[in-house]
Amino acid sequence: MHTLQQLQNALAPLQEGTVIFIDVDDTLITPKSKVFHWASPHRFLIDDLKKNRDKIPNFEEILSHWRLQRETMLVSEEWPKLINTLKEKHPVYALTKMETGPIGAIPSMEQWRYDELTHKGISFTPSFKGEVKSVLKDDLLQPCPITFSHGIFITGSYTKGDVIDIFLETQTPAQIVLIDDREEYLCDVKEACARHGIPFLGIFFKGMELIAGFPDPKVADFQKEHLLTHAEWLEDEKAAEYFLIQSYVQ
Ligand SMILES: [Mg+2]
Repeated sequence: MHTLQQLQNALAPLQEGTVIFIDVDDTLITPKSKVFHWASPHRFLIDDLKKNRDKIPNFEEILSHWRLQRETMLVSEEWPKLINTLKEKHPVYALTKMETGPIGAIPSMEQWRYDELTHKGISFTPSFKGEVKSVLKDDLLQPCPITFSHGIFITGSYTKGDVIDIFLETQTPAQIVLIDDREEYLCDVKEACARHGIPFLGIFFKGMELIAGFPDPKVADFQKEHLLTHAEWLEDEKAAEYFLIQSYVQ
């Protein structure tokens, strides 16, 4: 599914008592820079960085600066309106896989994510079990707990399936819906719903494929290098300028 019209059609017949979860990164919002667009060979730059986190001594500084400095855009301009329409009939929550609590230069990932989405005009059903903020699972073996904050469920060190497991310990929705750009998370949540005997509808959302633009490969390499060595993210235009100046100097 690529467009919000298709999504809206798929969600129109949902029965009462359905709870909708929506992924954030590359489903609702995505970085503005062409480096992260669909056709870019560098689009997994941050994922690759996370995979190598143990080898990068200032990993948290690099990641948190990137998050604070990179600009974002809505994957579809129609998202805020669709979410508001869905909220009239169903609880609508975000389900996002990332660290919770403080990381590097970001004092609270919960607050950062909430601010970022609010600035894009997106807001979710604010409370869960009467609370706007709660810690849902925390054990000493994992560095980051699962948290809920203003409608946003964050996995911390756990999986999206683990979050749904916790959710279904106390809730019995008629159905769970997840809209996500990653198939593995849809499978994970599908399995969690099956464990609890709750019907599941997974929507594989490919809105990213409609965002056109290809980065200049030399500038993209420069952006990556600059991020790794200076823990600073340069947006495309600024990076192109710096890259040009640097090539004159050499
Ligand atoms: Mg995603």
